[in-house]
Amino acid sequence: MSKSSALRDALKQSPNNLSLLLLYGRACLEELHLDEAREVFARALDVDPDQTDAQLGIAKVLFLEGNNSGAAVRAERVIFLEPNNAQAHLLLSRVYLSEGDRAKALDHFDRAAQIDGTMSDPALERELGRTTRDARKTAPAPAPEPASQETQPAGNADQDEFFDDPFDEPPFDWRPETFYAPGDPERNRVTFADVGGMEELKEEIRLKITYPLQFPDLYKAYGRKTGGGILIYGPPGCGKTLILRAVAGEVPCNYLAVGLHEIFDPYFGSTERNLHQIFETARANAPCVLVFDDLDSLAQDRRQIRESQMRNLVNQFLHEMDGIRSDNQRILVIGATNQPWALDPAFRRPGRFDQAIFVPPPDAPARAQIIELLAKDKPIADFDAAALIEATNGFSGADLKWVFDRAAELALSAAIHTGHPVPITLELLLAVAKAHTPTTQTWFEGMHTHAQKQDGPDSIFNDMRKFLNAPSNSKKER
Ligand code: ATP
Repeated sequence: MSKSSALRDALKQSPNNLSLLLLYGRACLEELHLDEAREVFARALDVDPDQTDAQLGIAKVLFLEGNNSGAAVRAERVIFLEPNNAQAHLLLSRVYLSEGDRAKALDHFDRAAQIDGTMSDPALERELGRTTRDARKTAPAPAPEPASQETQPAGNADQDEFFDDPFDEPPFDWRPETFYAPGDPERNRVTFADVGGMEELKEEIRLKITYPLQFPDLYKAYGRKTGGGILIYGPPGCGKTLILRAVAGEVPCNYLAVGLHEIFDPYFGSTERNLHQIFETARANAPCVLVFDDLDSLAQDRRQIRESQMRNLVNQFLHEMDGIRSDNQRILVIGATNQPWALDPAFRRPGRFDQAIFVPPPDAPARAQIIELLAKDKPIADFDAAALIEATNGFSGADLKWVFDRAAELALSAAIHTGHPVPITLELLLAVAKAHTPTTQTWFEGMHTHAQKQDGPDSIFNDMRKFLNAPSNSKKER
């Protein structure tokens, strides 16, 4: 039984399941069943007209049929909806190459490589005589939206002079990859609704950036300002990265997520300059949320650093975050780490990351939400989630996702081998969960050692201690 026929059977059970439709469409494409692929992608578009994978699927069908103009129109539409869709640029590169327009083909290939450095299309690379690596060196990254007049900070000439800028010539070869202006369709894909639990953190983010923009007069009346710094920390897999992505879909202002590869540079001094340029971009586009995932790699404790270059970077970061800088006021900086003990304590001073929020493994209501999110669009037999919620105490969101993915794999494999659709059942999910040890356990064990060394009323670990001391979070349950 082929992959596509197993998926077709599964679809009979869940005909409007978008994920299955896309999987089946791709399988049909691989097996060159072009008519079937077109029909399936069209069904996916009936379910969600802006589904870009389905649009791209149809574009690929048209290209394989030799309809270059039809393929180009569809691929352009995908790029309109998602400017950074590497696959659409890659397809356009192929289309232009077969039309004999080598310059445009190279242009789109370079764009695809710039967006996704891991993509690979050896045949196209051979034909173009260019590798993904070469293309990444050549192609300009997508430019940020220019700041609108209203969103520019008022600017204070005296202040600007006062704060000496060590980087007076701007490094214009640097541009952030993930800069989203409000209204960018790409940024609304994940919102707070996709994140189970974390209500305190969600509200804190709204208080610091969303509400001040919605109710500026009220904020003025209460003398409250926008922005600041929030540090989020906790065991791996509990949704820190997910919530950082969701902030983009939630806040009504510019959003800039910093990739570590955009900062680190082998040339002496360039790393600090890149970091400075990132903050400058955020200030020029304020109000803006500036997001640093894996903060520990940038904000390390200077006492543990040997290389002077790294120490300079930490000093630069502290300087950029300095609370005295009036031009930081409409910037909310959010940093996430699962190694809070590795951060330089100076980052916790007022005006920097002065607020730390612990993101624990999801509690029962949050697990219920995550389970509901994970069960959505999957061929799952009706089930009462209570037993699964109970059985997954101490699991991170990533652990829960693993349980669902593994159960889906097992059900799919059974469907392929029996030739009958096999739904994911509660029994299967419970069996998978039972065999899994939550990945958060080792983190808590290591955390105890670090927490003992860092006592004090404003220790970063206070929230975590409270969590551990709560009766419902006894060792047995974790
Ligand atoms: P790390 O510290 O290792 O970077 P993390 O805390 O950033 O981990 P994520 O990468 O955000 O964890 O989570 C991994 C995946 O687990 C997410 O992509 C999502 O599928 C799932 N997940 C985790 N937490 C949640 C949550 N609260 N709600 C919904 N899904 C979640």
